[in-house]
Amino acid sequence: MLLESHLQDTWVAPTAADPAVVDVADAVTGETVCRVSSAGLDLAGAFGHARQVGGPALRALTFHQRADLLEALATAVRGRREELYALSARAGATLDDARYDVDGGIRVLRDYAVRARAELPDAPYLVEGPAERLTRGEDFLGVHLVTPSPGLMLQVNAFNFPVWAPLEKLAQAVLAGMPSVVKPATPTAYLTEHLVRIITDAGVLPAGALQLVAGSVRPGLDLLGEQDVVSFTGSAATAATLRAHASLVARSVRFNAEADSVNAVVLAPDVPPGSPLFEAFVREVVTEMTVKAGQKCTAIRRVFVPREHESAALDAITSRLAEVTIGNPAAEGVAMGAVVSLAQREEVRRAVRAIAASGRFVHGDPAKVRVVDADPERGAFMDTLLMSADPDAAAPHEVEPFGPAATVLAYRDTAHATDLLARGRGSLAASLVGDDLAWTTALVREAAPWHGRLHLLDSTNMTQTTGHGSPLPALRHGGPGRAGGGTELAGIRGVLELMQRTGVQASRRTLAEFQGR
Ligand code: NAP
Repeated sequence: MLLESHLQDTWVAPTAADPAVVDVADAVTGETVCRVSSAGLDLAGAFGHARQVGGPALRALTFHQRADLLEALATAVRGRREELYALSARAGATLDDARYDVDGGIRVLRDYAVRARAELPDAPYLVEGPAERLTRGEDFLGVHLVTPSPGLMLQVNAFNFPVWAPLEKLAQAVLAGMPSVVKPATPTAYLTEHLVRIITDAGVLPAGALQLVAGSVRPGLDLLGEQDVVSFTGSAATAATLRAHASLVARSVRFNAEADSVNAVVLAPDVPPGSPLFEAFVREVVTEMTVKAGQKCTAIRRVFVPREHESAALDAITSRLAEVTIGNPAAEGVAMGAVVSLAQREEVRRAVRAIAASGRFVHGDPAKVRVVDADPERGAFMDTLLMSADPDAAAPHEVEPFGPAATVLAYRDTAHATDLLARGRGSLAASLVGDDLAWTTALVREAAPWHGRLHLLDSTNMTQTTGHGSPLPALRHGGPGRAGGGTELAGIRGVLELMQRTGVQASRRTLAEFQGR
């Protein structure tokens, strides 16, 4: 079945004969789910439709009316979320994994609707801050006017969050008054396609506000202009290629990248093995390794522990991992499903072997796994893989095994831990686990510039945490350096980032006109 795209408010199939068509296999059974191609799709027409039809319709609405659209979207997706859960199993996801993706996306829509009503005016644009007098006189003032860009958002998404990612970006784009063209990653494009069908069936968005391109969008990059935004999520390597794309550079097309990163947790020296906080640390590591079979951009890959607690940490994590049942996500008792594809499994195998070259496997074998109710060779199953490695080797800090894998690295002292943490060269999230406030605050000051988000876990909040790996609408999602240098979420600030901020110098009476709208 050739996956359709949704262009100019119509479902269209690609040209049948495409030598580059990709067969997408079920991660569990290996059966073909769909075939993906963008051959023959009219991307120029789609982009024009977004700019000429979707954009004006969204820009005509106030922030509060756009918030109503998000609320309606959330209701529409929630009403049919079971369909998305069922389809997610074909990508190897357990029900919990599917909820993380689907319900997480619905939550972001609702959260943004509430924020927009509370923090933005019931107007189509924002006049930012009180007017400032620019000269001695009373009648020459300055403000910033924040208006929607008359362009489109091209979403280029990764395979691992086929529902959450498009919804989270859509929430911000709708509020910013921008139409979206969504290009899902091929291995899970069928899930995003189903999401878009749910949304278009519900008819809640204005014409042209949401389009879907299944398959490659590469020819479309040349069609982007000065008012457009590329919102990319994926590997650092692809981000680097797109960032340097000649047309994007020539037209200063805004490019936001959420790339891969080698995220970390640091266990403080004051946390004794066996203590409740130590157990919370172990739970975090195991959760990060197993939720979505470790295919989370924020997942912990490097586990820094003080040397004296290294063997206790390895033992505790190993014994927890041994309890994780792997197999068909639909089978009773299965806690971890498959990675997305056989190709992805090969990628992870390559990555963990590169890391283990400077250490060893403590738990799991990349070549073997015992599974429940599935064929471990036809399905893209992997064991959980815990490694121990030389903390000063390069690979653990540079290689991202995008699967159920992490490496324990023992540090000598706080200075060593600080140095090792920064060797990831920028990441989305890091957790620091400890009760010693002096240690935590000193490390935060050193570590903060390298991370988009810091999750500080101690005995007072360990039962309340949302977990290391959860991006939250209130906080920035994105990280410096290797993590792409981009920003998403961050509450309403993320929305305003998508809009144009123009300094306006004018008389009091002109500004009053804008403020009164
Ligand atoms: P990927 O291979 O980099 O692909 C990402 C997207 O870029 C896909 O939609 C892909 O389309 C497209 N693409 C690839 N090359 C392109 C090109 N030359 N021009 C235009 N589009 C191009 O990443 P992935 O394998 O899907 O996702 C896994 C990676 O994403 C991991 O490294 C993970 O850390 C990262 N990630 C980061 C975040 C974050 O928020 N920071 C979130 C999720 C995932 P095709 O599939 O059609 O090739």
